[in-house]
Amino acid sequence: MKTIRLRAEGRELPVGKIICLARNYAEHAKEMKGEVPDRPVLFLKPSTALLAPNDTIRLPEFSTEVHHEVELVVVVGKLAQSIPAERAMDYVLGYAVGVDLTARDLQKRAKERGEPWAVAKGFDGSAPVSEVTLALEVGEPTDLPLSLKINGEIRQSGRTSQMIFKIPEFLSFASSIFTLEPGDLLFTGTPSGVGPVLSGDVIEAEIGRVGYARWPVE
Ligand code: MG
Repeated sequence: MKTIRLRAEGRELPVGKIICLARNYAEHAKEMKGEVPDRPVLFLKPSTALLAPNDTIRLPEFSTEVHHEVELVVVVGKLAQSIPAERAMDYVLGYAVGVDLTARDLQKRAKERGEPWAVAKGFDGSAPVSEVTLALEVGEPTDLPLSLKINGEIRQSGRTSQMIFKIPEFLSFASSIFTLEPGDLLFTGTPSGVGPVLSGDVIEAEIGRVGYARWPVE
């Protein structure tokens, strides 16, 4: 079973499902030539997609174009079913910085054919995530800077205030579809600047007050 480390306590938390929000920053929707959605568009990654900090990202052989998407990750702390947005933050254990690795070539093909994104988004190692910082330490997550560097060069930079659907709405909506359990992870979407990851690269992802992690690519 995959686990994620709580930074302050040094404890490992088993990870359940990984729920992701597509096109949650307008500038990214634009660069993907997609509409800004009027309701949340969700997809899933299996827990086996999780990759710990410093682990090697092994690019899958079935893709020639894997892209990085830096995202704020919300870690669920309590069982949640159809919770209202006003109380949603009570269910947050903490936050992490994650990268939603995407086989863009397969995703493009899936979009054209109306096929699911399971392969393009859910392959082994497609969810590198940092250690978790507790919600109490982070405070308000509504306007945090997030950025991603490749080989020391900034590729993505944005602020969580640019999200279209905010964290309480995302939690409320997701919990009306799926029962949320402790250790579930919610990827909240990526700002613009996504691009390819190549063998030999080093990815660094950082979110203010939340954390930092790096991963070599092979
Ligand atoms: Mg994403």
